[in-house]
Amino acid sequence: MPDGLTVFDGEIAALANLDRALLDALRQAAADAAGDGVEFIVNSGWRSPEYQDELLREAISEYGSEEEAARWVATASTSPHVSGEAVDIGEFDATSWLSEHGAGYGLCQIYDNEPWHYELRPDAVEQGCPVPYTDPTEDPRMQQ
Ligand SMILES: [Zn+2]
Repeated sequence: MPDGLTVFDGEIAALANLDRALLDALRQAAADAAGDGVEFIVNSGWRSPEYQDELLREAISEYGSEEEAARWVATASTSPHVSGEAVDIGEFDATSWLSEHGAGYGLCQIYDNEPWHYELRPDAVEQGCPVPYTDPTEDPRMQQ
């Protein structure tokens, strides 16, 4: 992925293959954040299953075991990035803007240990975001 990709760069597969509603919510939030002088950089969006497998292999060698790697990287069949339902946002000013305002767009932090990882939770607009999981191993979607 190119460095410095913003949510408005629609041609890139990492964004073009995202869930449309997620991308729309991100663009709306990014436009409003720009008014506060904050820019969203997309560090990761949609991933191919092959790329997700590669990330998992790297994580297993970095963390030394599949159990430890699972706290950070999902498999190709469980990753919300592969299904186009997650984005990793940078930099710090953007994630802190999102932690304050994201729920109003349905954009929620899902894992305590990944303050950059956001997914769409449309109910959050009315109800606020659900309490984040400590890490992905607590996420029932990862148990498949
Ligand atoms: Zn992520």
